[in-house]
Amino acid sequence: MKQPYDLEQLQAAWQAAAAYTDKGNVATYIPELAKQDPRQLGVSVFLPDGTVISVGEADVCFTLQSISKIFSLIVALCQNGPDYVFERVGKEPTGDPFNSIIKLETIKPHKPLNPMINAGAIAVAGMIQGRDVEERITCILDLLRKMTGNPDIRVNEDVYESEKRTADRNRALAWFLKDSGVLVGDVEETLDLYFRHCAIEVTAKEVARMGMVLAADGVDPLSKERFFPADVARICKTFMVTCGMYNASGEFAIDVGIPAKSGVAGGILATVPQRMGIGVFSPALDDKGNSLAGVKLLEQLSRAWNLGIF
Ligand code: GLN
Repeated sequence: MKQPYDLEQLQAAWQAAAAYTDKGNVATYIPELAKQDPRQLGVSVFLPDGTVISVGEADVCFTLQSISKIFSLIVALCQNGPDYVFERVGKEPTGDPFNSIIKLETIKPHKPLNPMINAGAIAVAGMIQGRDVEERITCILDLLRKMTGNPDIRVNEDVYESEKRTADRNRALAWFLKDSGVLVGDVEETLDLYFRHCAIEVTAKEVARMGMVLAADGVDPLSKERFFPADVARICKTFMVTCGMYNASGEFAIDVGIPAKSGVAGGILATVPQRMGIGVFSPALDDKGNSLAGVKLLEQLSRAWNLGIF
């Protein structure tokens, strides 16, 4: 009998999307990311019974970048509760690029519009508790180690150093937030935490499993252990729909219809409620900063497997 999600259809989606890897460009504003090979394309699907199907470069390591904003938000929500978090960061999409500064000043109060843009994620990093940066990054790493089942998940030091050296825009955002009273505590330490969590290294296979935990409302599909409350998963998945693909989130919701979060290293985490987690990796980006072939692949797969949630 034909499986509901068969490898052939995944291969067909991969094949169709592979034609687009030369249409985008790797991110260069973080110099270390410019070294990535734009021709790579990998996809992995993790099903509730633990079945994994993958095509292409599903075991290649890449850094989470903005995908990590979901996990810093989970930690901040678990440590502080939603009331505290949403006093300091909003729940609205911006329609602006992920690193935009403009609305921070024009909107009053000056809190970032949502936790998926850089300003919002820096504000969220400021809420993560711990004695020092080491203890604070360990909270995020521990969550990801549990979610992926890989105890060796770590920060890629080269990418972290590379972003830290060149992140003038993020520094500007953080100091503005400090001036507005949104960011309390040491600004450079919080930026350091933000650069570190963006540089956490994973594979598409691991991202697929992380997506499955979100799809299962915070429960590990294999051990049935709960990693975070269902309400936290609900908040994250809603942000993924409204803001997860930056200022292409509306288009993605119509064309693909799956909660997803992308990062400038070329990763996309997609989560189909109760059904599957999907990890995609292809470093060549479109003009909004989303993986170009990655979006094409998800579009094709969503149609083939009828994954849209709307
Ligand atoms: N570390 C990156 C930055 O702050 C993350 C951005 C992204 O993936 N969109 O610019």
